[in-house]
Amino acid sequence: NLARQCPPDKDQLGRATWTFLHTAAAYYPVLPSPAQRSQMLALIQALPALYPCSHCAEDFGEKVAENPPDVSSRSGLSRWFCERHNEVNEKLGKEAFDCTKTDERWNEGPKDGSCD
Ligand code: FAD
Repeated sequence: NLARQCPPDKDQLGRATWTFLHTAAAYYPVLPSPAQRSQMLALIQALPALYPCSHCAEDFGEKVAENPPDVSSRSGLSRWFCERHNEVNEKLGKEAFDCTKTDERWNEGPKDGSCD
């Protein structure tokens, strides 16, 4: 792989950010407190303003406005991020991810040790 490692390009940034967001969702409380809910909402709502790929951030902001974040539970949040990621996958012509598999991918790990 001859891709430069630094500074990160749009794809490296995207992989790192999705890793953070899906992992944060996979370890989000099953029953979050009101403070945890508002902190997660603030994190999501900051992304359209601060994500350092301006056209990505703009499209993501529109999707967040159309689909209010579900910060009510671990499973709801994991699904919400999965659906938003699938919207980007679709836009880029990539396969949709099966949103029943978010725990397997981002928390438990697949039984055979593979990741994709
Ligand atoms: P990624 O899409 O980065 O996925 C990483 C891993 O996540 C995959 O290997 C898979 O195991 C898993 N995964 C895939 N889909 C899902 C899912 N739905 N739910 C859970 N896990 C999943 N790039 C652009 O070119 N244009 C954009 O407008 C754009 N907008 C973005 C907006 C945001 C908020 C973010 C975080 C990223 C955006 N990106 C955008 C980057 C893009 O989504 C990818 O990260 C990048 O193209 C690299 O893709 P990849 O194939 O390596 O895997």
